[in-house]
Amino acid sequence: MKHLMKIEGLSTVFHTEEGKVTAVDHVSFQVREGETVCIVGESGCGKSVTAMSIMGLVEAPGGQVNGGQIDFAGEDLLRLDKNTLRAIRGNEIAMIFQEPMSSLNPVMKIGEQIMEPLMVHLKLNKKQARIRAIELITQVGIARPEQIFGSYPHELSGGMLQRIMIAIAVSCSPKLLIADEPTTALDVTIQAQILDMLREFKESGGMSILLITHDLGVVAEMADYVIVMYSGQIVEEGGVVELFNHPKHPYTRGLLKSKPVVGQRLEELYSIPGQVPNPLTLEQSCYFHDRCEHCMPVCRSRQPRLEELGGGQKTACWLYEEAEVHV
Ligand code: SF4
Ligand code: MG
Repeated sequence: MKHLMKIEGLSTVFHTEEGKVTAVDHVSFQVREGETVCIVGESGCGKSVTAMSIMGLVEAPGGQVNGGQIDFAGEDLLRLDKNTLRAIRGNEIAMIFQEPMSSLNPVMKIGEQIMEPLMVHLKLNKKQARIRAIELITQVGIARPEQIFGSYPHELSGGMLQRIMIAIAVSCSPKLLIADEPTTALDVTIQAQILDMLREFKESGGMSILLITHDLGVVAEMADYVIVMYSGQIVEEGGVVELFNHPKHPYTRGLLKSKPVVGQRLEELYSIPGQVPNPLTLEQSCYFHDRCEHCMPVCRSRQPRLEELGGGQKTACWLYEEAEVHV
């Protein structure tokens, strides 16, 4: 499969009062056409910042993408001017977030908010955009679309709002949909409906999905390819079946202790004892060493590289490196 987006060495930092925090640390991966890639990890691991960096939503002076390339359909998103990027955003790349309310305008009717990208990106006139908006509301499974068209966001439930966000996101047939914890705030039944809907849109529209989640049940259900992040770095990646059946990194193994089965949803996850290290005081080491039951001396002094271990799976862990480095 051809890649749609290829990220090389992406690094994003935030300047805080206490110092510089590297939120995304030399991250490289690709999303192929028609594929769903899930980025999974605990909160603060850099998965949302990765998404924001792709969307050009990390802004100075607080944050800054300070390295790497994001090749999207032949262009480096990090080197595009603001207007070109804005034209791509919402059109070729769309994004949905955990909290739909944060992306919707509270004083604008739902219908108008769906019409807007149709008029801006697809140049539909008002009448055409209205017809298309009603169709989209119907497509995301909402009854009485005319009534919803004229409603304000506060009049709808969380699940309905997330459907509206999906309607807006798919309205311009994006090549890539980035979804950051899209179902985290919803109850399990609605969650399942929303995930099914995303899958249907992916299959019918041929789009790729980059799905960010802390929930391995969601990963099992949606992913073709999985990226596990820890402290701003990728520690393991691979096809969903290989990764779930043969997790290699101790962190991935910890996450998978409760063994979600591919295709099945899970309620509760085992949580790994200990905490993510303070990003301000990171040293040359495996960032997971404080929580790892296999920690060796080398793990405290040198950082393992992400290496391919066969079957397309890559892992960054000294357990799998050649013996020569065990100093
Ligand atoms: Fe554990 Fe060492 Fe592997 Fe890090 S490199 S995960 S500390 S064994
Ligand atoms: Mg997040």
